[in-house]
Amino acid sequence: MQELKSYLMGSFQSGEAEGTQELFDPSTGEVVATTSTQGLDLAGAVAFAREKGGPALRAMTFAERGAMLKAMSKVLYEKRDELLAISARNAGTTRSDGKYDVDGATGTLAYYASLGKKLGDRRYLVEGEGEQLTRSARFWGVHVKQPIRGVAVHINAFNFPAWGFAEKAAVALLAGVPVITKPATDTAWLTYECIRLIVEANILPEGALQLLCGEPGDLLSHLGPQDALAFTGSARTGALLRGGEAVVHRSTRVNVEADSLNAAVVGPDIEVGSPTWQMLVRDMAKEITQKTGQKCTATRRIFVPSDKLDALKDALAEELDLIKYGHPDSEGVRMGPLASKRQQKDCEDGIAELKADGAEVAYQFAGEPIDGHAEGAFFPSTLLIHRAPKDAKLVHEREVFGPVSTLMPYETIEDAIELVGRGEGGLVASAYTNDRAVYAALIEGLGPWSGRLLLGSKKVADQAIPIGMVLPSCIHGGPGRAGGGEELGGERGLDFYLQRTAVQGDRALLSKTLGF
Ligand code: NAP
Repeated sequence: MQELKSYLMGSFQSGEAEGTQELFDPSTGEVVATTSTQGLDLAGAVAFAREKGGPALRAMTFAERGAMLKAMSKVLYEKRDELLAISARNAGTTRSDGKYDVDGATGTLAYYASLGKKLGDRRYLVEGEGEQLTRSARFWGVHVKQPIRGVAVHINAFNFPAWGFAEKAAVALLAGVPVITKPATDTAWLTYECIRLIVEANILPEGALQLLCGEPGDLLSHLGPQDALAFTGSARTGALLRGGEAVVHRSTRVNVEADSLNAAVVGPDIEVGSPTWQMLVRDMAKEITQKTGQKCTATRRIFVPSDKLDALKDALAEELDLIKYGHPDSEGVRMGPLASKRQQKDCEDGIAELKADGAEVAYQFAGEPIDGHAEGAFFPSTLLIHRAPKDAKLVHEREVFGPVSTLMPYETIEDAIELVGRGEGGLVASAYTNDRAVYAALIEGLGPWSGRLLLGSKKVADQAIPIGMVLPSCIHGGPGRAGGGEELGGERGLDFYLQRTAVQGDRALLSKTLGF
């Protein structure tokens, strides 16, 4: 039995036995690991980050911090197979779904390593050359961005234990801010192993990276005005953390990445069977089944011109029939179980709620899971149809976090845009059209509701990235229900960890001191 310890104040530590939580193999229900954080000194961990990690990171240049990220990426990549095995065991991922998480982690670390190299021998950033502020050309103003003096606490969701940790840590460490990372308990084994490998390789200065493996205890109560809290998870927990004492009364910075009823819009011009239609069908099947639908970016609502609703349902059913589910190690399985029995129950409840709201089950994978176990958290891919989306409520509100999406008809493109907006903000919306006017209307109509737009058309039908894929160079996050946050986006992501200060004074002195 694997014991997951927390890595705090320079050593791996066990919590008290009475606080022990169990982690399961979602394919079999077997207990695979335990962890406890009870009684750990979290005030000490916060102080350790501030007093040791912060000063050490701030003394380094971006290039040096980038080199550190490169080494982290390399260490994880070298142990890729071991990490994929843990992912299969504790999160039920197929090899392909595990790679999505683990390679996402190494790729994002490598991307920010290159950015560090590009930012070079500076320790903080200066925005441009500034500007003259009065009649005198001598009196000048320029904006300087320096790392905050506290700790970045990262709280992550269960669905990306490797990437979730790495995408946040890469940005904070490059900015020069130490990290305490807290994975979701259910799938924490993979994060634990990533941290263990990084610690063993002795890449980071003391205090730069700590791990709290399990319940958060009183961690957040120790945060203050120079700290940052980046959260990924459900809207409910996000709301709770946003209202926390440190955020409300001490202005701890907060970024929330939450649920999202991501939408796809099929343009009225897309002919059944055309290359763009085929792209759409491929994309939708992937969004429903990849990581067993447990992606915050998965498409949950598909809006289609009413005269093509049945054609899309049939095409998707045909595609989904090819994606067999079951034990991730078994031959022919392309979709593993959900991450836990809790998620399985939540999906069952979610579908029942959507049916009560007027949706019907239009398709459900017929067979039993391959090598399925009675205690496994398996769930068949499911397609719902709601024929009156304007009268529906829950279908625009209730995220069923599994291999489940809902098809809905629309009459005009304006209607489709309005219906997408009923989701009250998403991480990503996709749309398929080759009509320039529709293209423009979709960018203008969907943009304000979305952190990212992926527009499919015939010339990119075989070149675009999958909708759910988050690239480090583009921002991730979304307005409203999606949490109102923003992460990654290349250099943009650093801003969350940097204090921007307008510095005003003698131009010559400023220029010599700041090097602009
Ligand atoms: P969750 O239940 O909200 O948990 C998320 C994290 O918050 C976990 O680490 C959890 O720890 C922690 N947590 C819970 N209560 C807390 C508290 N009072 N104080 C501090 N931390 C607390 O969400 P989840 O079930 O793991 O994740 C699924 C949800 O995340 C889905 O709704 C999905 O859409 C969303 N998600 C969003 C994004 C995005 O980028 N927008 C990405 C992935 C997932 P424990 O596990 O120890 O309880």
